Amino acid sequence: MPQIRNVGTIGGNICQWLFCWYFRSASFDCLRKGGQICYSVAGDSRYHAILGAGPSYIVHPSDTAPALVALDAQIRIANAAAERVIPLEKFFVLPQVDFKHENILKPGEIVTEIFVPYPKAGSKGFYHKVRERLAWDHAIVSVATVVQSSGGVARSARVVLGGVAPVPWRVPKAEEFLRGKKIDDATAQKAGEIALEGAKPLKDNVYKVGMAKSLIQRALVASV
Ligand SMILES: Cc1cc2nc3c(=O)[nH]c(=O)nc-3n(C[C@H](O)[C@H](O)[C@H](O)COP(=O)(O)OP(=O)(O)OC[C@H]3O[C@@H](n4cnc5c(N)ncnc54)[C@H](O)[C@@H]3O)c2cc1C
Ligand code: SF4
Repeated sequence: MPQIRNVGTIGGNICQWLFCWYFRSASFDCLRKGGQICYSVAGDSRYHAILGAGPSYIVHPSDTAPALVALDAQIRIANAAAERVIPLEKFFVLPQVDFKHENILKPGEIVTEIFVPYPKAGSKGFYHKVRERLAWDHAIVSVATVVQSSGGVARSARVVLGGVAPVPWRVPKAEEFLRGKKIDDATAQKAGEIALEGAKPLKDNVYKVGMAKSLIQRALVASV
């Protein structure tokens, strides 16, 4: 997809429509489009959210958003009269807050800048993505990690999942667990289990739970 890569922007990538085939199809007047029901609950839910969802189970499909949140990026939002800078992770909105919007942009506002701070000494990041097609395709599950470590011991860690929630899904309990721990297969596996503790899969996407745990484990081991 060189054409998309050459004209796509980071602003457009983090603001892109979320993924749900009922939403993107003109045939389904679902909750998010002003209808009465979410078709993913009884319908085909293989790509839908397992974390932070309800009443809509739509997923955030961006690859750059989880990586930027893991890097603690800041975002500048402007309208004709004013601008504000906020942490990128506060840009995205869960359906339980507003199921008709994916971010906090108000009419007339655009994203004008994304600022990525210089990583702290000893930091290493990793991005891992599973996609269905052997072509450029949205993530079914992805994970971005940034670990600041010394001698294999984590001083701090940021772990953000993509493709599993309506927003880039940070897992603070797993990050806290990792602080001060030697990162090896066992601790990375435990962090994955902690990260998925609150998962509520629909009938067709239970597989995402194990997939996300596995990706977290691999990404953490690769981040030290
Ligand atoms: C075949 C295909 C495969 C794809 N695969 C992937 C993938 O693997 N991973 C991935 O992350 N994405 C993927 N995408 C999505 C694609 O990369 C994004 O849609 C693209 O990056 C959007 O960039 P753009 O600048 O063209 O935005 P546009 O398409 O122009 O805009 C997208 C949305 O964001 C809004 N917008 C754009 N810029 C701003 C701004 N500065 N401030 C506020 N709102 C803004 C627009 O109004 C629009 O609603 C794929 C798309 C296609 C068609
Ligand atoms: S997940 Fe959201 S967008 Fe998809 S059918 Fe349900 S309400 Fe509509």
